Amino acid sequence: MTRRELLAAAALLPAAAALPAPLAGCDVPPPATGPTPRAAAGPARLRTVSRVIASMPVTDGAGVRLSRAIGSPMLPMLDPFLMLDEFRSDDPGDYLAGFPNHPHRGFETVTYMLAGAMEHRDSMGNQGRLIAGSTQWMTAGSGIIHSEMPKQVSGLMHGFQLWVNLPRAQKWTRPRYQDLGPERFREIAHMDARVRVVAGEVAGEVGPVAGIATAPTMIDVTLPRNGRLDHALPTAHNAFAYVVEGVARFGADGPRLERGQLAVLSPGAEVVRATSETGGRFLLFAGQPLGEPVARRGPFVMNTEEELRQAYEDYRAGTLVRERGAQG
Ligand code: FE
Repeated sequence: MTRRELLAAAALLPAAAALPAPLAGCDVPPPATGPTPRAAAGPARLRTVSRVIASMPVTDGAGVRLSRAIGSPMLPMLDPFLMLDEFRSDDPGDYLAGFPNHPHRGFETVTYMLAGAMEHRDSMGNQGRLIAGSTQWMTAGSGIIHSEMPKQVSGLMHGFQLWVNLPRAQKWTRPRYQDLGPERFREIAHMDARVRVVAGEVAGEVGPVAGIATAPTMIDVTLPRNGRLDHALPTAHNAFAYVVEGVARFGADGPRLERGQLAVLSPGAEVVRATSETGGRFLLFAGQPLGEPVARRGPFVMNTEEELRQAYEDYRAGTLVRERGAQG
């Protein structure tokens, strides 16, 4: 391989050398080294789109209108991701009711705000305001009761809620919050894209969310007209992209996705390639699948029916909240 070919191959995989070490015990093969430029550019190394899911309208909380892309009959889950909702409306009637007090146990809820403001309070005395550009990564663990209510009476409210499963060994962990304001995120330029890294790493920029069992990637990508981004992921991670604005394609010759559509990206290859003919913005998520039994109902996600029954019993008995949360 000539030096020029080597450089070309390296340019195609800018983040491969900087991938975080796989989780202990996870069978994630190391990134391949020394690919020929032809192999690096060919479809065999790129993740392909295995499914396209259109988000569907749902009502949740006390009457908030949402679009659900994961957690619907079309895509009940994509291990370890249990749910993805987008809320986006400038009609207060769609969001004012909010999410009054409700419990969670056994998984993590992630709120990513793009516009508007929500206030978060919980049964342990924690309180915080989520404003545009902020992320709250809440590990519910053994149990919390909280509310998420709009702090605005008009204007655009736009954001996402993602649910991420916890492994059996961490379902009883102490609740933990990572409340990250907009100042914690830096927008970087990489290839043709502008990228905000919430979790994971892009071109040396490490997202502030840390210490999560499933080693997630969560990045917010804006592509200009005719722009392209290649991003390497551990081959065993499940991954998906959700289009927020404009259009995007994934893989060598993937279908054209529009706002509100989700692409499941086949595992087994490292590189996610995203392109956009007319410009677009999307969120890219990836995580280590847990491969454990999932028993879920309402706000609880456990491994067995018995544990679900116990969660409902504890909630009724007022013993769901066992430990005070930690900020970290
Ligand atoms: Fe909640």
